[in-house]
Amino acid sequence: MPFRAPLEDFRFLFDHVVGFGEIAATERFSEASPDTVEAILSELGKLTEEVWAPLNRNGDLDPARVENGVVRTSKGFAEGFRALAEGGWLGLSAGEEHGGMGLPLTLTSAMNDMLAASCLSLGLNPLLTQGQVEALEHHASATLKEIYLPKLISGEWTGTMNLTEPQAGSDVGALRSKAEPNGDGSYAISGQKIYISWGDHDFGGNVCHLVLARLPDGVPGTKGISLFMVPKYLPNEDGSLGEANRLRVVSLEHKMGLHGSPTAVMEYDGATGWLVGEPHKGMAAMFTMMNNARLGVGIQGIGAAEGAYQKALEFALDRRQGRTPIEGQGGTGTIVDHADVRRMLATMRADIFTARAIALSCAVALDMSTATGAPEWAARAAFLTPIAKAFGTEAGMRVSELGVQVHGGMGFIEETGAAQYYRDVRVTAIYEGTNGIQAMDLVARKMMDKGEAAFALIDEMQGFAEGLRSDRPALAEPLWQAVETLREATEWMLAQGDLNERFSGSVPYLMGFARVLGGYFHLKAAQAEGGEGPRARLAEFYIRRLLPEHVGLLAHATVGSADLYALSVEDLSA
Ligand SMILES: Cc1cc2nc3c(=O)[nH]c(=O)nc-3n(C[C@H](O)[C@H](O)[C@H](O)COP(=O)(O)OP(=O)(O)OC[C@H]3O[C@@H](n4cnc5c(N)ncnc54)[C@H](O)[C@@H]3O)c2cc1C
Repeated sequence: MPFRAPLEDFRFLFDHVVGFGEIAATERFSEASPDTVEAILSELGKLTEEVWAPLNRNGDLDPARVENGVVRTSKGFAEGFRALAEGGWLGLSAGEEHGGMGLPLTLTSAMNDMLAASCLSLGLNPLLTQGQVEALEHHASATLKEIYLPKLISGEWTGTMNLTEPQAGSDVGALRSKAEPNGDGSYAISGQKIYISWGDHDFGGNVCHLVLARLPDGVPGTKGISLFMVPKYLPNEDGSLGEANRLRVVSLEHKMGLHGSPTAVMEYDGATGWLVGEPHKGMAAMFTMMNNARLGVGIQGIGAAEGAYQKALEFALDRRQGRTPIEGQGGTGTIVDHADVRRMLATMRADIFTARAIALSCAVALDMSTATGAPEWAARAAFLTPIAKAFGTEAGMRVSELGVQVHGGMGFIEETGAAQYYRDVRVTAIYEGTNGIQAMDLVARKMMDKGEAAFALIDEMQGFAEGLRSDRPALAEPLWQAVETLREATEWMLAQGDLNERFSGSVPYLMGFARVLGGYFHLKAAQAEGGEGPRARLAEFYIRRLLPEHVGLLAHATVGSADLYALSVEDLSA
């Protein structure tokens, strides 16, 4: 069974769970009518099913490589990228003044989900390009916008982000790359960057690097960092490609997965670059790209989970092994009828729904913030971003791992492709800020409002559960109780003045929050279906079996740090 784009899930989530209608009702996004949304979803569904999905194995079996200093990409990737670009899809949410469609980010999020599900390694390229477009729209000078935005939006050129250096990973402030003024408004950029995704390719056009570097008067740490546009080819006045810039791909990394995405070590040797935004304010400018990318990476996890689920279900519906408990009673006779296999498949499906609902809610909040300027929406988006990133990628890992398990021995054999999802998605929990860093962001920066954004969500969830306590007690009551436990854990977090107390439980807190959000979204789905139907049955499965995980997670979240440090390094080494 080939990949099928999960269009029905998007339609249902848009209409009944995340409130897409609210976006379409704003003046800013009035073009996002139901007909437009339907046309876009089905066109993208076709593109990902027919053009992208057949490329996924090529990325794994025929990885990107360097030949004589030039990066060669996997077979068919250039054509796949072109098909996306020619549809105008890279500019789905980009501003109309430079050739974008100006449509909601929520739609782009659905697109990124389908791109990741059909071919994760190729999908990383448009994700980075979209992020670069957003950063330039917000921070670049009019001249830079004029030169770069039309070409990035049309997909003629592509974008990368260059933060990481050998000594500066999570601690970006430790970077050493330098920028010296050339005296003509441009800068000479020097330094080495590692792990640069899509640092080069053979799709044609330009590769536009957004590079973080320090000006001569930049202070140490993140406050002294500036952002520069450093293209592979220096553009001529008319926008055509000029001479090659002083930068090169030193090598490509050998990775556990995601082989189709070239991950480059880049060297900048006095390369010409132009400042994006204010001097020393590079982190703020890069954060525009990173926030977009954080949500996008969470969605990569969800897409990979979707691909892994579809493959596992297909296998389970075909593989016969042993007598099943419902043989002769309407069962299929295949392993899908074994209770444990059904548990695995239901877990996969329920968590894909949870993660997708969280990510799309985050996108809706971003769109509402753009459309209305209301600070509550911005606060909600900021709060949901680390949850969408970390839970989406966690779901990607967990679901693809279950996908291998459903296959039994064949899951460990590469030819089924089940293992590829598992290997490919693993990095999503690491890049774009590890999930540990996301969780720290959630309990520190995202709670600097004294918990206002957290409690707004908590109140919304509890209010919804409260309203259904008498109609649907079996589902609403456990959710109400779970929200109460989450409220107490949140109060505990806020009471810790020493941030390290919070950090010692930040990952289980984030995962516990996501678990409770999942209960809320599943209950909304069940309610929309009138309490009967496949979504209501999935909600029952989730609330009975997966929601209770919040108890352990939130207990873990609120222990504090003393026991961690009581366990000495010697204890760990004994
Ligand atoms: C395939 C791939 C593609 C990538 N693409 C890009 C790209 O396009 N552009 C780019 O700039 N970078 C890219 N990266 C780099 C990526 O963003 C970093 O690997 C990531 O930010 C983690 O940094 P690090 O690898 O140095 O790990 P470290 O920062 O050394 O972290 C190691 C461990 O320590 C933990 N840790 C670190 N600091 C803290 C702290 N303060 N508190 C608690 N725990 C902490 C981390 O969570 C992690 O578990 C890519 C990486 C990979 C593997």
